Amino acid sequence: MDRRKFIRDGLLATAGAVTLGSLPSCSGGIVRTGGGLSGGSTASEGPLELEWEDFTAEMKYTFSISGSSRDSTPIVLTRLHWCGFTGYGEASMPPYLGESHASVNAFLRRVRDEVLPDFRDAFLVEDILARVDALAGGNCAAKASVDIALHDLLGKVMGQPWWRIWGFNAQDAPFTCYTIGYDASDDIVRKKTSEAAWSHFLKVKLGQTDAEDRRMIRLIREIRPDTPVYVDANQGWKDRFYAAEMACWLAENGVVMIEQPMPRDDIEGNAYVNSRSPVPVVADESCQRLADIPGLHGAFSGINIKLMKCGGMHEAREMVTLAGALGMDCMIGCMTETSVAISAAAQLSPKMRWADLDGNMLIANDCFSGMKLKDGRITLGPEPGIGVTPLQR
Ligand code: MG
Repeated sequence: MDRRKFIRDGLLATAGAVTLGSLPSCSGGIVRTGGGLSGGSTASEGPLELEWEDFTAEMKYTFSISGSSRDSTPIVLTRLHWCGFTGYGEASMPPYLGESHASVNAFLRRVRDEVLPDFRDAFLVEDILARVDALAGGNCAAKASVDIALHDLLGKVMGQPWWRIWGFNAQDAPFTCYTIGYDASDDIVRKKTSEAAWSHFLKVKLGQTDAEDRRMIRLIREIRPDTPVYVDANQGWKDRFYAAEMACWLAENGVVMIEQPMPRDDIEGNAYVNSRSPVPVVADESCQRLADIPGLHGAFSGINIKLMKCGGMHEAREMVTLAGALGMDCMIGCMTETSVAISAAAQLSPKMRWADLDGNMLIANDCFSGMKLKDGRITLGPEPGIGVTPLQR
């Protein structure tokens, strides 16, 4: 499908879905809809139709983290149709995830051809997503693009946003931090920091050399002497004794949380740092999916949940519950993403101690409007599903 038609159809579908989604009434436990189903039929059965398009998110700045840098991120935008409703989804594929336009396209063809024809009830979320997950290991961004579209769709059918369906309190939504990527230029670090004046929390990408890491912190402190800072080392520190010392220095310099100091599989090393760090140490690369969490208990103080790692909103919700039961705090994170995946992740934000949902602000060509920040805090509105609207491109 060409891009213009995709967007045009999307705008029409959204307008219809929002109108219809705001009017459902329950009858005998079955959701009934208005005219969208030609005469008020029951939204309980019908074919699930999936379509998608490739998209490239252009970064506002070259994005550098420990081990890589890039100017753009490949994305696939999905649409799932059912009974007159349309849900939007997204796969974002930064290179370290190992997915690509080609791999996501191949996976979505399998979802379309091998899974969806077996379902006529979109509310069978557990069954549908279990079949999608079982198609192949990995492919978590591709899986998330189906999961998010399915949640958006069902939220619209129910006429409610997911934060309400889950029973969360929008007033509990946290502030998001804004990420300052590593840069060798002092001027660029200062410029990025100045541009983030709206944000009450900054996140800094470290894990370079000792001198460079300290330079980044000192530059940011020149401009923002008192702002709480999260540090993400992205596995960049290889020596646990050094990492523990660095954690103490960072805490003395106003850092309040450290993400993934040591390599993902070095759980003992990360646990050593966490046990000596004055501030919480959070697992990101070490925590991909729900099944990883029990092995991290006692080693990390918290986990960073990202939809592109865990396969979407359904498993992310389960991760929140399990982490909470184990006494671990949660952070909601993101990749460079459009407002589709950011708004989907935001639905979970009331349960988060930390939030890093700035991925749509780091790109120059966001093609949806969705979750808005107010004075740096995540706001959750009444729009059904994940609350996004496509923009004209
Ligand atoms: Mg991280």
